[in-house]
Amino acid sequence: MIDLRSDTITRPTSAMLTAMQAAQVGDDVFKEDPTIIQLETSLADRLGMEAGLYCPSGTMTNQIAIRVHVSPGDEVICDHLSHVYNYEGGGIAANSGASVRLLNGDRGRFTAADVSANINPDDEHFPISRLVVAENTCNKGGGSCWDLEQLKAIEAVCRQHGLAFHLDGARLFNALVRTGDNPLDFGATFDSISICLSKGLGCPVGSVLLGSSEFIARARRVRKLMGGGMRQAGYLAAAGIYALGNNIERLAEDHRRAADLGEILANCHYVNKVLPVETNIVIFELNQSVTASDFVSRLEADDIAAIDMGINLVRMVTHLDFSDDDLEKVKQAIRRLDI
Ligand SMILES: *Cc1c(COP(=O)(O)O)cnc(C)c1O
Repeated sequence: MIDLRSDTITRPTSAMLTAMQAAQVGDDVFKEDPTIIQLETSLADRLGMEAGLYCPSGTMTNQIAIRVHVSPGDEVICDHLSHVYNYEGGGIAANSGASVRLLNGDRGRFTAADVSANINPDDEHFPISRLVVAENTCNKGGGSCWDLEQLKAIEAVCRQHGLAFHLDGARLFNALVRTGDNPLDFGATFDSISICLSKGLGCPVGSVLLGSSEFIARARRVRKLMGGGMRQAGYLAAAGIYALGNNIERLAEDHRRAADLGEILANCHYVNKVLPVETNIVIFELNQSVTASDFVSRLEADDIAAIDMGINLVRMVTHLDFSDDDLEKVKQAIRRLDI
């Protein structure tokens, strides 16, 4: 089976497993796991932030960040496509008791003016606007990348109004490889950043939350509260260290294969349009001749898995376990489909 449902489906390579097996470990709730400390510190350094916190998932790093930034009744401003709103089980309400103001950005990317227009006045009727969340790349936006200047402009609005600014950077390294931006500029723009190791970077598990030392100390308490304090998890963190050393530059290959897929799909008569392919995600809209679920079943018959994202939207994601040979097979299957 060629699996294009997500970049989370990769399995650790033997080199990664070897690195994991060799890890020095200790009890991380006692702050005694040297490998976890090394992962947290090295990723924080890479982005120019003070500290990091290793967690089981990107949902947890986002939810911890929101919980630390807001109080019950406050409002979180984010795009209507955002993962924190759509795909975290209603966690903003359940974990933080906060309400949400949704923006209508361009494939997940909103402007400083959008933010300004949605900050509530200081009036007891309104929830207190407390936090802005951006997502880079934006998953539901088709792996779209933010322009750093646009983020800097939003940061300025946040500073002016006393709002915190969090980045859901589940695929931040895909964005950095695409744009060539300096990771330090991202560290300087946000109060907190969440990065997934289990997506394009190819780890079996893990995300890291970054921020100031004071923020991470508070985040550590929330991680314990949520049951995310792990013990000898250095074996898992070692996969993260391996990935940061070996799997970043190669993301460009995933992007090249995704662009290639996007081009083939754009020329298929049953495809209405393909969202611009900027990184490793391809989202396309089918025309009337076939539904997304029918299209996905037909591909499945050819041993290719994709995901339907609504009546006529399909998503394919390229990753570490998707080769040029696989790409050729998928291209042939797409061309062969009798729709
Ligand atoms: C995958 C993802 C997350 C976190 O997901 P987990 O499966 O909980 O690790 C967060 N944000 C975005 C944009 C994602 O794609």
